[in-house]
Amino acid sequence: MLLEPKREVAVELVVPRDAGGVEVFRAYRVQHNNSRGPFKGGLRFHPNVDLDDVRSLASLMTWKTALMDLPFGGAKGGVQLDPHKLSERELEILTRKLVQGIKDVIGPAEDIPAPDMNTSGREMAWIFDEYSKFKGYSPGVVTGKPVHLHGSVGREAATGRGCAFGIREILKAMGYGKMSDHTFVFQGFGNVGAWASEIVHDMGGKVVAIADEHSATTNPKGLDIPALRRHAGEGHLLEAFAGGQALAKESILQVPCSILVPAALGGVITPDVARSLDCKIVVEAANGPTLPAADKILQDRGVMVLPDIYSNGGGVTVSFFEWVQNLQNFKWDEEEVNRKLERKMGAAFESLWQIHREMDVPLRTAAFVKAVGRVARAERFRGFD
Ligand code: GLU
Repeated sequence: MLLEPKREVAVELVVPRDAGGVEVFRAYRVQHNNSRGPFKGGLRFHPNVDLDDVRSLASLMTWKTALMDLPFGGAKGGVQLDPHKLSERELEILTRKLVQGIKDVIGPAEDIPAPDMNTSGREMAWIFDEYSKFKGYSPGVVTGKPVHLHGSVGREAATGRGCAFGIREILKAMGYGKMSDHTFVFQGFGNVGAWASEIVHDMGGKVVAIADEHSATTNPKGLDIPALRRHAGEGHLLEAFAGGQALAKESILQVPCSILVPAALGGVITPDVARSLDCKIVVEAANGPTLPAADKILQDRGVMVLPDIYSNGGGVTVSFFEWVQNLQNFKWDEEEVNRKLERKMGAAFESLWQIHREMDVPLRTAAFVKAVGRVARAERFRGFD
């Protein structure tokens, strides 16, 4: 039951192009498990999206919501495309057609999408609007909405903030001192990488290198992350940043540091990378960055891995807070959101760490023991009739 998704939907999206003609895109929504609550998970726009990829990401969401102890199940969706090749108008049509294709299997009590790779508040606003046309006013059908359209303060930064809280927890548990005693390397400078690196920087951590899909920059004395974010926000390449030196983006995972944070694509830590990286802890801000064979090598080398379903669980946690606020027709302030997020990250870490110590298993195994246990228990309580 837990291996296979409960439902898989594939739809064809026909989009009229600005230049004339139409183009056809494949879109998927995989609903893995809903024994603990409505299906929940992001929607990504990326050329690598296929049914298999979405399936594995959907199951990760089931374990993530269970580990974070949120009353949700797991799902994921995606459209196979390079969004940089479409205009804003074309993307809006595509997003609305996607809602038309999946509107009967999503809903505030059924399945609640959210941002993921290359999607943000803009797409979530279109989803809310399109869904509401068919089903009536429903802000709770999607999370990660703009703050001024039923979104939650703190949601945009939440995955990065949760990741920084998680790093603080593991440093404390390992007796490794404070954030300011450590150097950090980030792969990825999108929503997750940009926020996580900025918050780590605010907490005193020294970020010595960052790469995105185009280029990379390094500074052994520490990068000024707010300045780097402004630089990137103006459309400049990271390698052109005056406060750092250019670095080949392919070598980012080999830069020596105490904490390496993959915050972009899955599958980047291959066995070769695992043998050559030079850090004490890998913090998986991306979903599925470490290949199973590489995981084993890291374990043998004594490199700790803080697993994705914990490290990036802050995003879906604040999605839960957003959904609760929508159902309550109420708004919390940022201090309350961040405080509740910190508490959730602390509690999940504690349960993870306890299993890691008691069963003498890696943190990823500990996370799955906790999560699978919760889902299996919910399935059993609900019965099978
Ligand atoms: N896409 C994010 C993730 O992978 C957030 C999902 C959500 O908020 O539902 O966790």
